[in-house]
Amino acid sequence: MRFNNIMENSELKISICHLYPDLLNIYGDMGNISALVNRLRWRDIDVEVVEVKSGGRVNYKKHDIYFIGGGQDQQQIMASIELQKNKDAIFKAAEDNNAVFLAICGGFQLLGHYYQPHQGNKLSGIGLLDAYTVAGTTRFIGNVTGKVNFLRQKTIVGFENHSGLTYLNPGCEPLMKVKIGNGNNGKDKTEGARHKNVFGTYLHGPVLPKNPEFCDYLLSLALRKRYNCDIPLLKLNDDIETFAHRDRVGARY
Ligand code: GLN
Repeated sequence: MRFNNIMENSELKISICHLYPDLLNIYGDMGNISALVNRLRWRDIDVEVVEVKSGGRVNYKKHDIYFIGGGQDQQQIMASIELQKNKDAIFKAAEDNNAVFLAICGGFQLLGHYYQPHQGNKLSGIGLLDAYTVAGTTRFIGNVTGKVNFLRQKTIVGFENHSGLTYLNPGCEPLMKVKIGNGNNGKDKTEGARHKNVFGTYLHGPVLPKNPEFCDYLLSLALRKRYNCDIPLLKLNDDIETFAHRDRVGARY
């Protein structure tokens, strides 16, 4: 399939940076990397995954998509320290290069300004998302259905497991409006956050396999960032993914 008479799918490539898989990788969040990789390869688009582990440095010019998963408080302490070392590079990637970010739960919390756990010091975030998180007294565990306005499907489903309560500062856009579940804090009906091509969410699952349209939306943003034009994605047979999605819409447990 040719785009603007320039390129075939097989000439396209996307680079994915997996941030701190040695620290933040619980509840199957790694499955989001598999969803991104497979939905590119099924379309004959080349893809590389580069892991940046503790002590590693981010090459902000290289990657089109950045992924950071969830983790328990202890791992978040270490991830907070590591993220500060790469803060400038991450900001350049997101703000100057329009790279796509997907941050899940603990990783989402650390893209905000801070996370204040029950015990110990406040964990510094990098402030890429204008939000903050404080420890709550209740653990939110269960299925979530949210309404979105940027996908044809209009819903995103997933599984939440967090005690942190995230609050969006005025002007910070939520990812979705909660219809079933708790979302950011169980009160204001927001779930996740979005800034430019940066997406944060509490949804595990992993979130992308059950939301193929959301996955393709991220891939389209990444292709536009890399090639400066809209590249249509070949339609895939998503019967299984759509069945899984519809099965969870409206489900509580
Ligand atoms: N420790 C954080 C919380 O409980 C994040 C947990 C997670 O990443 N699932 O809110």
